[in-house]
Amino acid sequence: MAFKLIQCDVLIIGAGGAGLRAAIEAKETFRKGKIVLVTKGSLGKSGVTATACSDRMAFHATLPYTEPATSENWRYHAEDIYRIGGYVSDGDLAMILAKESQSAMEYLDRLGVPFVRKEDGRIDQFITDGSEYARACYTGPRTANHIEEALLKKVASMDIRIIEHCMIADLIKYRGRVIGAIGIDEKEGSKIKDRVKIFSSKAIILATGGAGEVFETHVFPEGMTGDGYALAYRAGAELVNMEFIQIGPASVKTKLNCSGSLMRAVPRFLNEKGEEFLRNYFPKGISSVEIGNLIFEKGASWPISLDKRTHLIDVAMFKEIAQGHRVFLDYGTNPEGFRFERLDAKWQQRYASEVKNPIPFEQRVSSPLDRLSEINPESIEWLKEHGIDLRSGERIEIAPCIQHFQGGVKIREKGNASIKGLYAAGECAGGQHGANRPGGNALLDGQVFGKISGHEAAMEVMHLEQKPKISSSRLDQFLSKLNRMKDGGKASQIRKSLQSITSLHASVVRTPEGLRKGLKHLEALRREGLSIDEKGYVYALETENLLDVAEMVMRACLARKESRGPHLFFNRFDDLCPLPSQDPSWRKYIVIQNESGKMVLKKEKPVSLNFS
Ligand SMILES: Cc1cc2nc3c(=O)[nH]c(=O)nc-3n(C[C@H](O)[C@H](O)[C@H](O)COP(=O)(O)OP(=O)(O)OC[C@H]3O[C@@H](n4cnc5c(N)ncnc54)[C@H](O)[C@@H]3O)c2cc1C
Repeated sequence: MAFKLIQCDVLIIGAGGAGLRAAIEAKETFRKGKIVLVTKGSLGKSGVTATACSDRMAFHATLPYTEPATSENWRYHAEDIYRIGGYVSDGDLAMILAKESQSAMEYLDRLGVPFVRKEDGRIDQFITDGSEYARACYTGPRTANHIEEALLKKVASMDIRIIEHCMIADLIKYRGRVIGAIGIDEKEGSKIKDRVKIFSSKAIILATGGAGEVFETHVFPEGMTGDGYALAYRAGAELVNMEFIQIGPASVKTKLNCSGSLMRAVPRFLNEKGEEFLRNYFPKGISSVEIGNLIFEKGASWPISLDKRTHLIDVAMFKEIAQGHRVFLDYGTNPEGFRFERLDAKWQQRYASEVKNPIPFEQRVSSPLDRLSEINPESIEWLKEHGIDLRSGERIEIAPCIQHFQGGVKIREKGNASIKGLYAAGECAGGQHGANRPGGNALLDGQVFGKISGHEAAMEVMHLEQKPKISSSRLDQFLSKLNRMKDGGKASQIRKSLQSITSLHASVVRTPEGLRKGLKHLEALRREGLSIDEKGYVYALETENLLDVAEMVMRACLARKESRGPHLFFNRFDDLCPLPSQDPSWRKYIVIQNESGKMVLKKEKPVSLNFS
C-alpha cells in the first residue's frame, strides 16, 4: 500500500522546551541536514512548557555570582541534584546539568526570555525546595511559557520543518537501530489510511514530556500520556526511575498547586462533612502546635518526600480520600487549637518577610483568610477569577496531584538512549534526576539535554546513509493493529479504570499488597482488550501507552522495597509511618526493559558523583 513518507536526518518528537532546543541545535550543527519537528496538538499550545504556570516558576542556573561565588560553584549545584535525588541518579549527568546551566540560561536570555533582574543588572535568583543556594531564575508565574515562546521564535526563523497535530504512535527499528516512526494525524473523521504518516529518519529524539494522565488527579495539560516512555519501551530501550514521581496537593477544579502562601496562611483541612481529619492519621499524641507548624512548613515542601515530615499531611489527605471522602482547604476559621503566636519563631520570621498588605495583629491571628490577604492577596483574586471565592466562604477542593516524572528513557551523557539512533531529552528522559528533582531543574534539564541530544544526533547522522527503506508492510501492520482495536473495553472506560488503579495503589501510599492487586487489575484490563470509541484513534493509542506506563510505574514501585524521595513504601495500608530508606543496598536504580514482550526489571548501580 502506498503511504506518505517524510524523510529526514533528525526527527524530533515533541515541541516543548526540550524538543525545541533539540531542533535548534540539530539544525545549527548540521546546517544542510533535514530536521523535522513533529508534535501532538498545536505548536506553542500543547505540552507542559507551553502551558504550565505556578506561583513563581523556576529555572535553575549556577551563574558566576551565584552563591557560593567561587569558580567551582557549579559543584554545589551538582551535589544538590545528586543528594536531593537520593543518590539514585547518574552523578556524571548531574555534573553536566550543573556545569551547562550557565550557558543554557544565557542562551535563553539572549533569545529574549524576560528574566527578572536586580538593580545592578544581575539576574535575580531565589532558593527553591531542597537546594542549598539561591539558583532559581524566573520571569514570574509563566517562566516556562516565556521559554517556549522564545524558542519557538528562534525555530520559526530556521529551516526546520514543523508538523503539528500528529501523534507518533510507534518507532520503527531495523537491525537494532531506530530508523523511523509512524505518525497519525489527529483530525478524526477522514479515512484512517490517509491519516497515517511514515517518517524515515537517521536519528530520533524523544522529547514527549511526562505522563500525568496515568493518574486521576494531576496538574498536567491534556494529552500528556507518556507516549515517549511507551514508544521507547516497545522499541526495547531501557527506562529508569519510573517509580519516582512528584506529587503534591493541588486544587481539583483549577489545578493550582496549593503550596507557598496557601499553606503558610495555615488553613483547615476538612472533609465534605466539615470535619478536620489530619489528626486521625497522624502519630498519636501530636499536638495542635505541631500540626500548625507542619501545615506552615508544607508551604515550602510541596512535593512529598520521605525526608520532609510534612509528608504526614499528604498521607492523611490520601487516606481520607481513599475512605471515600472529599478533601478541602478552608480559610474561614483557624485549625482546631491553632494559635498563630505559637508557630515556631523561624516560621513567624518567614511569615513576616512575606507580608505585603500589613494588617493589625488581632486580625492576623483571627483567620487564615486574613493571613492570606496579608501575604498573598493576588492568590485570592486569582482563585475568584477561576471560580473559587474564598471571601464568600468557598473552600478549595484538593487532592494529591502528579506534577513531574523524575524517571524516563535512560540516557547517557550524549542524551543517547540504550538503542542506536535514539535520544531523549526533557521530562521524557531519565537518569539525570534521582528520587527527587530539585525545583527549577526540570526546565533546566530540557535545555541542557535538548541541546546536547540535538548536537549529538546531528553529529552522528551527518555521514550516515539513509537506508534501509521502510517497507509498506510496516504500514499494513499498523493498520491491522488499529483494525484489531474493535473488541474489548472502550478506550475511555479503560483509561478511567487504569487511572483509578494507579491513583489508589501507586500514588502517595504504596504497599506490596496494594501494588500486587493493582497489577492484577491492570493485567485483567489488558486481557479485556481496548476498543476505539467516540474519542477516536489517537485517544485509543494514547490509552494503550498509558497501560504500558502504568505497568512500568507499578512494577518499579513494587520492586523498590524501601522508601526514598516521593516513594513512600508501607508494609500495610494502615501503618502510620513508611518504611525507612535502605542504604547502601538500595542506592540503586531500577532499570526496565522489554525483553521479547516481557517487562524485565533490574537493580543497577548508578554512576557516582566524582569530581576528580
Ligand atoms: C504546574 C507545573 C509547574 C511546574 N513548575 C516547574 C518549575 O517551576 N521549574 C521547573 O524546572 N519545572 C517545573 N515543572 C516541570 C517542567 O515544566 C516540565 O518538566 C517541562 O516543562 C517539560 O518539558 P518537556 O519539553 O520535556 O515536555 P513538554 O513541555 O511537556 O512537551 C512535550 C511535547 O511533546 C508532545 N508530544 C507528546 N507526545 C507526543 C507524541 N506521541 N507525538 C508527538 N508529539 C508528542 C507534546 O504535544 C508537547 O509538545 C512544572 C510542571 C508543572 C505541570
